[in-house]
Amino acid sequence: MTSRQRLLPADSVASIKGVGEKTAKHLQRLGIATVEDLLNHFPHRYLDLATVKKIRDVREGEDVTVYGSVRQIKKWRARSGLLIVAVAIYDGTGYLHGVWFNQEFMSTRFAQGDAVAFSGRVNFRFGQLQIQNPLFDVIQEEDISGGTAAAEDVAKGNATGIAGEYGAPVHTGRIVPLHPATQGLSSTAMRRIVRAALDAVDPRAITEPIPDELRASQGFADRATAIENIHFPTDSDSLRRARERLLFEELFLMQVGLAVRKRRLERETKGVEHRSDGALVRRLYDALPFELTADQRRVIAEITRDMESARPMNRLLQGEVGSGKTVVALTALLIGVQSGYQGALMTPTEVLGEQHYLNLQELVLKAGASIALLTGSTAAGEKAAIAEGLRLGEIDLVVGTHSLIQQEVDFQRLGIAVIDEQHRFGVRQRIHLRQKGYRPDVLVMSATPIPRTLALTLYGDLDVSIIRERPGGRQVSDHVETLVLDKTHRPRAYDLIRREVSRGRQAFIVCPLIEESDKLAAKAVLNEAARLEAQEFSGLRVGLIHGRLGSAEKQQTMADFREGRLDVLISTTVIEVGVDVANATVMLVEDAERFGLAQLHQLRGRVGRGSDRSYFVLFGDPSTDEARERLKAIAQIRDGFDLAEADLRIRGEGQIFGPRQSGLPDLRLAQLSRDIEVVVDAREEAFRLVDEDPRLERPDNQELLNEVKRRFAASLDWLFAG
Ligand code: ADP
Ligand code: MG
Repeated sequence: MTSRQRLLPADSVASIKGVGEKTAKHLQRLGIATVEDLLNHFPHRYLDLATVKKIRDVREGEDVTVYGSVRQIKKWRARSGLLIVAVAIYDGTGYLHGVWFNQEFMSTRFAQGDAVAFSGRVNFRFGQLQIQNPLFDVIQEEDISGGTAAAEDVAKGNATGIAGEYGAPVHTGRIVPLHPATQGLSSTAMRRIVRAALDAVDPRAITEPIPDELRASQGFADRATAIENIHFPTDSDSLRRARERLLFEELFLMQVGLAVRKRRLERETKGVEHRSDGALVRRLYDALPFELTADQRRVIAEITRDMESARPMNRLLQGEVGSGKTVVALTALLIGVQSGYQGALMTPTEVLGEQHYLNLQELVLKAGASIALLTGSTAAGEKAAIAEGLRLGEIDLVVGTHSLIQQEVDFQRLGIAVIDEQHRFGVRQRIHLRQKGYRPDVLVMSATPIPRTLALTLYGDLDVSIIRERPGGRQVSDHVETLVLDKTHRPRAYDLIRREVSRGRQAFIVCPLIEESDKLAAKAVLNEAARLEAQEFSGLRVGLIHGRLGSAEKQQTMADFREGRLDVLISTTVIEVGVDVANATVMLVEDAERFGLAQLHQLRGRVGRGSDRSYFVLFGDPSTDEARERLKAIAQIRDGFDLAEADLRIRGEGQIFGPRQSGLPDLRLAQLSRDIEVVVDAREEAFRLVDEDPRLERPDNQELLNEVKRRFAASLDWLFAG
């Protein structure tokens, strides 16, 4: 019997046999400090030796994995200026090239003789088989023992510093796990370290967060088994089952956190029972110059139901710019006022606050309520008067920035808060309001379409209402023609602008954002603007807004454009969200590949405001597949929600919302774009469990509670706050 020291998940990686100081440092770079981190460092791919193709058998257009040794590394600049790196591998049956564009560092990732696996779609170019931007892994020979014919000269070039720290090679099954590696730590070395960790850890210390009953009903193996099998699957079936379990677990834990939070809010906070039927809302509807659309009516009914109930409202209202959210928000605010409460409309910027105030003022007065605007530019005396009015309950509604309303105002009876947000989910605002002792119904408005999967994940504790149809029955960009052009068509675009201006219309030209520090780029834009004004647009009135301009100057130029004193507005900043210039019919975007899809769609919304045919012209020079797909999507898809789905598919969720910005937790296995069904399933199970044990007090739910806190409390820092 061996009396081996058993490790605990919380132990440092340095306690693993064979992991020295140097290795620990490398691991640190991957965010791996403990044994547990290592166990959760899942392979990103697997090399199934049964499905590796011989290069001889590879056909053009196929998706394949091939495996061979590096024979040649080449790097050159094409006449177009594109830098090309090509790495040729040989597997005893033929040659295949991995090819990268404008990624010079790729030439340093490989050495002559390395054993390498490439995966991807095969092309046939210039008489050669190639894979562009292949997925790749550098592998060591002994792992593929008995593998392909490429083994011959593999070993010598590939001895990393780490290899020596270990004894015998890890004999793997038919499926070789490829763990995410880092400089100085190959995927082979990673595999050995993970193996050592798995061998050393006490399996009883790997806790089981999924309650037994649920585990049984889903047919899942226990966690320790799943961890072993995701790292070192014996066959594809055991791998599939391990993945299924761990993926479900990840989403389930997150949904449990959201469910606990949602139910606790509903339980602990008694909301206001508002009266939806009353004089103010009736007078508002009488005063409206239009009929509500079916979507607006449906959404108002959803909000009304929430507001009438004693359960506090926590609802997200999604609708693109121009979809008519304002009147919905106003209805909610007036329901609050006619029930004897006050309302607040909170905006992310002052400009948006002012715009809302100007839009709402007349209708609010007609409805018979009072409204005030509170911004940083409000004079001190007036500020004090407004604060007093709100404290005494003399002012019904206030519009202002989030921070101002949170910091400077005490309400007598705040009953409804509308939070206008881009995509920060109003989470912090909700917490702050509650910290100040208010328990209003909350409506969060977002103009950024979020795919359903993301909404379920991110807004798990909000109910969601969506306005899809735009007033008049059109899509937001139905009458906007989107053109993606290459730069040789520039004269055509300038012709278009001149033509529209001669018809009394206006045009935007948007250049990519310039950092304030980027003097060179700023100068280039200034020069280009001067050139345009002197040549292509001579005789036209051209204005320029850039990041280094003061805010007064910016506002003046915007006002000049809005009021028709300028024909063309060149802007290096993304034009303020919400700016409404119905007379603008052309927008030209330079270097469009640098913008995200959501941003492009928002920009397109700027020229769809009037009823005239409009043009959204994109100049792009996409050098990656992703950029090409993005430009194709914007040209083909008009609906913002469909576009958001496409974006999610193209880029993956991590790119769309950085975890920090959004509160999106780090998901290791789940891809929201792909795993929608698992999200829905996990959510159902999570709510079922939380409804049975709302505080997770039952003994068999303790591991679950611990794990939820541990895994998501940091990224969803609001999860257990407020
Ligand atoms: P959002 O806030 O969603 O960007 P708005 O509420 O500002 O959109 O509405 C955009 C424009 O459409 C406004 O000029 C508004 O007056 C108008 N509008 C809103 N609802 C309707 C409707 N049902 N019929 C016609 N016009 C509408
Ligand atoms: Mg209510």
